[in-house]
Amino acid sequence: MDEFSAVLRARNFVRETDSSGLPPAVEAYVRHIGGVLRYEPDLPDDEPGYSFESNGKHFICVNEKDSEERQRFTACHEVAHIVLGLPSEHSAMPWWSYASRPKNEILCDVFAAELLLPKQLFEPLVREEQIGFSAIDELAHRFLASTTATGSRYAFVMDAPCAFILSQKGVVRYASRSKSLREAGGWIPPRREVPRETLSARLRAGGKEAGPDEVAADVWFSDWRRGGEVLEEARYLRAWDQTLTLLWFEDEEAPPLLHDTSDTEDEEPLLRELDGVLPWPTKRRRR
Ligand SMILES: [Zn+2]
Repeated sequence: MDEFSAVLRARNFVRETDSSGLPPAVEAYVRHIGGVLRYEPDLPDDEPGYSFESNGKHFICVNEKDSEERQRFTACHEVAHIVLGLPSEHSAMPWWSYASRPKNEILCDVFAAELLLPKQLFEPLVREEQIGFSAIDELAHRFLASTTATGSRYAFVMDAPCAFILSQKGVVRYASRSKSLREAGGWIPPRREVPRETLSARLRAGGKEAGPDEVAADVWFSDWRRGGEVLEEARYLRAWDQTLTLLWFEDEEAPPLLHDTSDTEDEEPLLRELDGVLPWPTKRRRR
């Protein structure tokens, strides 16, 4: 199974459960597979949940101490394991290490994101709002999803050139980009330090600016051949030393190419695009 199939399976699943309200009813998803949702008071802090089968019934257990957003993600991730028939692969590894995450876990995250932020509900609302972090906050609130997962999916479905970047300890881990930004060649390499002249770097260094701030586009995008400036908004999450960054162009279009060289415009290295899915920020195992 590949990610695209997982996405399609998830969309079908959402349609079958007919959960058209907001936030999407995770309980309805669990019920749809004949499952029972349990809130466990005694799980350790770093254990989000697990599931097991007993007498043909699926029991999905989530950590009662986790935030509601996290519990919803855990429940949907477990539903994914059951619906997709994928066994858990829960070896310990850094959560951001997308490349080394077991495939089954990635597929279940992809599936879970579709359940939490269903395309047919999410996309129209993205288009309604002005681009900016407050739109992400609003959507995260309405869908009861994390800011990170919402922002990631937000940039991915956006029509205008737009990127949502997750950095950890001042290093870019992941960037979700809209189709138009990918086509314009807006490439943000992972494992690169967050550029010093950005709002994101200043917030991490203790700055208090609210943003948005304007910065030359080639500060963020490598091999950028269009010039211009991007608007940048950012959040610094001190507890995890994480920075969330949103980039877009004021007129919602990428500037034209500076030098109309006739060589191919689309040479960016192949990066696996995530469909707006991020694993949870923990270095511990997840089921
Ligand atoms: Zn899992």
